[in-house]
Amino acid sequence: MLNWLIVGGGIHGTYLSHLLRHACGVPDAKIRVLDPEDGALAGWFRNTKNTGMAYLRSPMVHHIGLTPSSLKQFSKKWRERKCSIAPYERPKLSMFNAHCRHVIERHRLEDLREQGRAERILLKGNHVVVESDRGQLVARRVVLALGSAAPRVPAWAAGLQQQGVMVNHLFAPDFCSDCLPVHGLTVVVGAGISAAQFALKALERGAERVVVISKKAPQVHQFDADPGWLGPKYMNRFNRERDFGLRREMISRARRRGSMPSDVYHRLEHQRRAGEVLWLEGVVRQARQQDGQALLEVGNQSLVADRVILATGFDNTPPGQAMIEHLAQEHGLRRSPCGFPQTDRFLRWHPRVFMAGALGELSLGPVARNIAGARRAGNVLSYLLRRS
Ligand SMILES: Cc1cc2nc3c(=O)[nH]c(=O)nc-3n(C[C@H](O)[C@H](O)[C@H](O)COP(=O)(O)OP(=O)(O)OC[C@H]3O[C@@H](n4cnc5c(N)ncnc54)[C@H](O)[C@@H]3O)c2cc1C
Repeated sequence: MLNWLIVGGGIHGTYLSHLLRHACGVPDAKIRVLDPEDGALAGWFRNTKNTGMAYLRSPMVHHIGLTPSSLKQFSKKWRERKCSIAPYERPKLSMFNAHCRHVIERHRLEDLREQGRAERILLKGNHVVVESDRGQLVARRVVLALGSAAPRVPAWAAGLQQQGVMVNHLFAPDFCSDCLPVHGLTVVVGAGISAAQFALKALERGAERVVVISKKAPQVHQFDADPGWLGPKYMNRFNRERDFGLRREMISRARRRGSMPSDVYHRLEHQRRAGEVLWLEGVVRQARQQDGQALLEVGNQSLVADRVILATGFDNTPPGQAMIEHLAQEHGLRRSPCGFPQTDRFLRWHPRVFMAGALGELSLGPVARNIAGARRAGNVLSYLLRRS
């Protein structure tokens, strides 16, 4: 039987496997990471490539290495001169990714992976059975690090997809931004950093015309949550709140959804002033297919788009919803009104079931989904292991 089974091998699951294996001394044979993707961090590599982002939004100390200075040390030998940007030393994506690959290879984290998608979790006597599309795994404890729910596709966009119009979500597993044609009008839907980055990437690839449809004017914030949420400044009050519905409200207020840091904003603004990209404020009122193109009504304007790219983020539902519902119903585990698990301060939903990333949000706070959230979850698990 395994000591630990981590379900999900993205940034969070991979970092936690690294920490449990190499900092907490869990033996090789006693830990596994279950994930359907071909390799560790596959979703991260795909999504960041598709957006065209050049720098991370988070600082140099947030990465999958064990010591906070690991990426900084790595940067000293990095071939490119400008490997981070101010403020807060935000690392270049190419270097961050090379560091991830270096950590994974050096610590043989791929050896811990099992390919498969978890479908059901069963709590038995002193162990947990995880049923996947490739068989069963048995462990004393499981950590669910499933990332976010499915990419959010507005109803009008789903309707166009059914009519055969080229409508893609930026974070769909089969999306490839480098494969897109560049002729005609590319419409990007979304208000935040990914919409802006993708619009800039489309221009770099030679897109003829680019329009971003956004509910609001560009909002500039360096981070997607105030750095006070990384420590006791705001987290003490969050931890004292016993009402999980109010915790969700605090998270929603703190997360600056649909915002972008100033460097991305300035690049976008430069292109906007040059007439290369139009930022159109409004919502899609009506959409229909016309000769294979998308006819979109936004305010009092009509657009005829050759392709529509959705940068509309992810659904607000808990990832792995069916598994979560089954666990809640079978074992009477509590969920908040938003449907997310009510975990304790050690990220436990049950003595043998731990949550990380988005699923641990009601304990980890607004930075739960970020790389900082993975490191915070790691601190919690290693503290718990030291105590036991
Ligand atoms: C474009 C982009 C840029 C970002 N930039 C930053 C940044 O600069 N700084 C920052 O801190 N954060 C950033 N984030 C936020 C966050 O750090 C990333 O989304 C990160 O990839 C989240 O890691 P994760 O492991 O939680 O999720 P994911 O990377 O989505 O990994 C989840 C894994 O779980 C697997 N999985 C799902 N369901 C199952 C199942 N049933 N069974 C088995 N496996 C399953 C999936 O296959 C996947 O591999 C960014 C996010 C995006 C999308």
